[in-house]
Amino acid sequence: MLSTRGRFGHALHLPMCYDATITKTRKIFRKKIEIKKITSIFKHMIFKMHHLLKNILNRTLSLIKPMITALLKTLSGPWYYENIYYKYRFHKMSFWQRGLARLFFMPMALGLRLINESIRHRLEIPHLEMPITTRCNLHCRDCANLIPFFPHPVDFDINRLTKDADDFLVNVDRVHRFIIMGGETFLYRELYRLVSYLIQQNKISLVHIFTNGSIIPGPDILQLLQHRKILVTISSFPVEVSPNKLCFIATMEANHINYRVEYNLWRDLGGFNPAVDSNTEVLKHRFANCRSKVCHNFSNGEYHLCPRSIHGERLGQFSPDESDRVIFRDRKNPQVLRKELRELLHKEYITACSKCTGIYEETLSPGIQMGRGTVSNCPG
Ligand code: SF4
Ligand code: SF4
Repeated sequence: MLSTRGRFGHALHLPMCYDATITKTRKIFRKKIEIKKITSIFKHMIFKMHHLLKNILNRTLSLIKPMITALLKTLSGPWYYENIYYKYRFHKMSFWQRGLARLFFMPMALGLRLINESIRHRLEIPHLEMPITTRCNLHCRDCANLIPFFPHPVDFDINRLTKDADDFLVNVDRVHRFIIMGGETFLYRELYRLVSYLIQQNKISLVHIFTNGSIIPGPDILQLLQHRKILVTISSFPVEVSPNKLCFIATMEANHINYRVEYNLWRDLGGFNPAVDSNTEVLKHRFANCRSKVCHNFSNGEYHLCPRSIHGERLGQFSPDESDRVIFRDRKNPQVLRKELRELLHKEYITACSKCTGIYEETLSPGIQMGRGTVSNCPG
């Protein structure tokens, strides 16, 4: 028996089993507290682990996200166009055919690129633009190449152009797409000689001609354009501005010429002398977001990153920095030129960006004219 005090001070006599029950209860209580403690420690650990894993995952994602984005951009951007899109004439296919063909050709083209760049160390130029004339029959207010501002438009000397192209090709392993443009390309008087020369060059995969579609080429040129290496692009002018456009397209069809028609709007680069902020950080940002920085231009024997760099200099707008160009004329030294080219490709902006808005969005109606008439020579 166990004696203890009751509520009113009387001695209470409790049985022995009460003591055991208390001890047991205490034990259970202690156990419960311990379990609670362990559970809370465990919960805390899980919370910490979750936090840690989340941090690791976020950090890993922030590290690999730009890499994945860059890879996707590479696989679907300019590289895709040079190595797959133009090569296999995807522009002739329907949307679904293009998608399937893309999946089919991608691994092969990717493998070829890796072998050529990483193992064979070849210098392959994705695409290059060569202006051949500053003559044009249209006077577009928003011409990206500033052609209407040339006071004395001229055709560039054919011998000089082919000699410069020779000097360039001897120093590189391949040019996937060699673009010729104007002014209006079909106004160039020596077009037959120039195109004949370019399609004979083994290092050039595709000769791409841009036109406003207003000049219907003669029979000899049309025959030349049937060559498998030729692609003609008709820019996105409305027929009111380029009234021969439909006739031009029909002529391409009738002569089985590889062609495509653009439908895009234009970007506002600010005309001849735009008032723009030329702060270094602004220039870097403008250049980094500009699409034209991949429109590499080869003119006067020099390699520039953007057509406005060479045209702006011709118009006396500014003098490009020496590091804004690589001179190929009369030079044969692939190692040195490769190094100079690599340095140019790593530039964060060029002098021309201080005379350009570099607006990314395509917002302008194509081909708004500055008041002069158009040429019509459609036989129809
Ligand atoms: S057609 Fe218009 S955009 Fe094309 S070169 Fe001539 S002026 Fe420039
Ligand atoms: S921002 Fe620079 S790279 Fe872009 S179009 Fe203008 S001059 Fe060329």
